[in-house]
Amino acid sequence: MNFADLGLSEELVQAVTAKGYDTPTPIQAQAIPSVLMMRDLIAIAQTGTGKTASFVLPMIDILAHGRRRAMMPRSLILEPTRELAAQVAENFEAYGKNHDLKMALLIGGVQMGDQVKALNEGVDVLIATPGRLMDLFERGKILLTGCDLLVIDEADRMLDMGFIPDIETICSKLPATRQTLLFSATMPPPIKKLADKFLSNPKYIEVARPASTNTQIVQFKVPVASSRVKRDALRELLRTDNVTTAMIFCNRKTTVRELAKSLKASGFSAGEIHGDMDQSARIAELDRFKDGTINILCCSDVAARGLDVKGVSHVFNFDTPWHPDDYVHRVGRTGRAGATGRAFTLIAPEDQEAIENVEKLTGGKLTVYELGGGTKAEAPRGESRDEAPREDKPRRERAARKPREVDEARPERAPREVVEARPERAPRSERSPKPEPRREKRATSAQIKDDAGELGEWNGPVPGFLGVSAL
Ligand code: AMP
Repeated sequence: MNFADLGLSEELVQAVTAKGYDTPTPIQAQAIPSVLMMRDLIAIAQTGTGKTASFVLPMIDILAHGRRRAMMPRSLILEPTRELAAQVAENFEAYGKNHDLKMALLIGGVQMGDQVKALNEGVDVLIATPGRLMDLFERGKILLTGCDLLVIDEADRMLDMGFIPDIETICSKLPATRQTLLFSATMPPPIKKLADKFLSNPKYIEVARPASTNTQIVQFKVPVASSRVKRDALRELLRTDNVTTAMIFCNRKTTVRELAKSLKASGFSAGEIHGDMDQSARIAELDRFKDGTINILCCSDVAARGLDVKGVSHVFNFDTPWHPDDYVHRVGRTGRAGATGRAFTLIAPEDQEAIENVEKLTGGKLTVYELGGGTKAEAPRGESRDEAPREDKPRRERAARKPREVDEARPERAPREVVEARPERAPRSERSPKPEPRREKRATSAQIKDDAGELGEWNGPVPGFLGVSAL
């Protein structure tokens, strides 16, 4: 099957081909024909499945006919974070290059004046985070009555961030006869309720979870004797497993910071991204990773969720995530769209309960990967030593460099209460709090500007497409 078979126009197929894609991914094959037929859609899909193109492509063809009007966007895409909004905008730019469509990006941290100007000129596609959209709406700068197509992307993430009341308000301002597409990695009850209320006779699509079924990702758990030796274990893996680019996930922002510092001191080319950094610093660090200035990025879940960084060879879970679905998101950073990848999760005794929850969710025991160097632990009780296949053993002879060891292994903070094993079903807001807080409830729209509860202006380099762009 190719993209033309899905009913897309020739100009669009050309743009997709120019991007190097000739075969639709499963979600694209299932979603695009229905969206073109103006059906509502519920798609259960992770990032990494090609889900963005599954709504961007048909939207471009749908919007190719019709006229723009001042202050009245013709379509709206809601994204939980600025980074995801910017990524969707990049997709529109690439795929829409043969169409005369205008797009505006409404995200916090960017001058509101430019965005208002863009809206006044008329846009076909508005890509927004709920906070900034509500601000502009409450100021009377935008009318949603001409918006016939709504995309709610990463709905479960929106729930985590407390955006559902805003989304309900936004939905109620749009024409009742609109087309609505809802994408979510999971379907907790509040999202199901939202879908029941605002979608009509939707087509339902579910594509495989990358972590449970993506055979492109080889996944291991690495027992370590204690959290004190995690850094040694990580360094050993970084040196011996042919790592070209790696994302390393930690559960706490302080761990992200300290780990990045320690890796740099050990001679690795490492950077960091977490919710305590301002937006410009986050974007700059991500750019350094994307352009190869650094090849290791230490991350927190909130900062890294959904980011599409191509060609990540490895994902390391320095800590086992507290919420099993975060494991799926983390590991999904590698093995994207046909590429292969390797994922390692370091398991100290305090990670044991969390990894059991992950294995429950992903439906199988992870292969144990034994390290040398005095970092290994006995196999967890009741578990067989299912050794890694021979070819997956560390390849020490390929170690590229032997950076100097300078830092002592330091203990991590006391582990938090392990979250109750309720994968997928319970909304985050009902679960145990964790140290990197997600906003449970937005205060007022004017106070909260954007993702992850971060206030303040985006002072960094502003990509060309922020504001408005002719496609
Ligand atoms: P997404 O799930 O939208 O974050 O997409 C994940 C990655 O897959 C992005 O880098 C896309 O550019 C890429 N991608 C999208 N569609 C295809 C396709 N049909 N074939 C190969 N890669 C794709």
